Amino acid sequence: MLRYSKKNSRFGAFIFSFVIVAAVSAFFLPAVNSTATMLSSNTPQSDSIYEGGVPTANAGDLEKLKQEEARLASMLASIRQQKLSVLRSRPLTIGIIGFGRFGQFIAQSFTKYGNVVGTSRSDYTDIANEIGAKYVPLSNLEGFVMDHELDVIVVAVSIVSFEDTIKDLVPHLKKKMQLKGKDACPLIVDVLSVKEHARDIMLKHLPEECDILSSHPMFGPDSARNGWQGHTFVYERTRIDKMLLDPSQMNRVDSDANFLDTKGVTHNLHENSESHIEGMDRVERFLSIWEEEGCKMIPMSCKEHDEFTANSQFITHLMGRILGAQGLQATPVDTKGFQNVLRLIETTHSDSFDLFFGLYKYNRNSMDTIVKLKESMDQIIAKLLQKEGKSDTLPGAKQSCL
Ligand code: NAP
Repeated sequence: MLRYSKKNSRFGAFIFSFVIVAAVSAFFLPAVNSTATMLSSNTPQSDSIYEGGVPTANAGDLEKLKQEEARLASMLASIRQQKLSVLRSRPLTIGIIGFGRFGQFIAQSFTKYGNVVGTSRSDYTDIANEIGAKYVPLSNLEGFVMDHELDVIVVAVSIVSFEDTIKDLVPHLKKKMQLKGKDACPLIVDVLSVKEHARDIMLKHLPEECDILSSHPMFGPDSARNGWQGHTFVYERTRIDKMLLDPSQMNRVDSDANFLDTKGVTHNLHENSESHIEGMDRVERFLSIWEEEGCKMIPMSCKEHDEFTANSQFITHLMGRILGAQGLQATPVDTKGFQNVLRLIETTHSDSFDLFFGLYKYNRNSMDTIVKLKESMDQIIAKLLQKEGKSDTLPGAKQSCL
């Protein structure tokens, strides 16, 4: 089986691009043209569907559009098949540091597309064998990095241990590059639930030759126990080929595939630099795994991610923990609403407290969320007391309820 690496990807990258461009041109251009021709006869200038400014349609138009829709859907399915076979023809070798709950969960899917090598503090050899992955203890981090031709290293350790893990990894990456050349640094990917913190740490410690992808799969072993289809995958292409990408710009690649770096210089996804193409190709191949598994792919800056998740993910975990602290139990007369409450408690408590603490400590917006939640609780209680006519009589009613 052919193995993919940054070094041997040069021709692969070109062939991959060529296959996709050729496929898109062959399939889509005629389709787009024919659809455009059909629709152009239905533009506002055409008398057939616009009468007195109100759109009308000829009999049979809907049927034609449905046929066209079916044809495009079948072309998309065909391109998807081609993408899959290109992906499988040169599989990535993916290392995972942190083979705990989440590391094992992603390893299961990665083994469908490539070779997986896991490492962690605990001994997960048996679990790795069951999954079809290789296992190396974290005490042999050097062997993990040096003895395997890793294309990608996914760091899936707890948020609180992330910085130390990256610091421990750096000397081995440097040694590998000294021995095998600058191209030998694998693509480093984090999957932390807080993104600005992870991005800052990676940029601070990793050698500039290491490409970086910041990512957060917004699902886990509970929510996606039946597969990743439809689940959200957030990512930021952070650094490729020593170029720090401006996340807000990079995530807005225009129709000509242009984007800006942090210095405001325009680049192209397919620009004429081999190392850039190689780096991009490796990132795209890794992202394709998530795509193929059916994830909803959302490019987003780490900063934006953290702003959103403080008011979505963190508040969910916070509520689950607060409600869990009440010691709530199922009763014989549970409403659907209460069953949902119990499910929230169960899912938030199946994640480690380290994870919850990490969400709090390393998202700069989380304290704001806590303060607003306390204020909201005070307001709601004050409203209840007011309605009861007790707001002035009860001691402490106007003070914080917490
Ligand atoms: P976690 O408690 O956040 O992390 C557990 C993992 O971290 C285990 O692999 C553990 O290794 C490792 N670890 C803990 N302390 C360590 C240390 N001092 N040094 C080295 N490794 C250490 O639970 P998790 O659910 O597996 O999450 C892992 C990462 O994935 C987190 O960054 C989390 O934010 C992210 N994530 C989780 C989910 C989810 O649904 N759970 C979803 C998306 C992203 P050992 O087991 O060998 O001790």
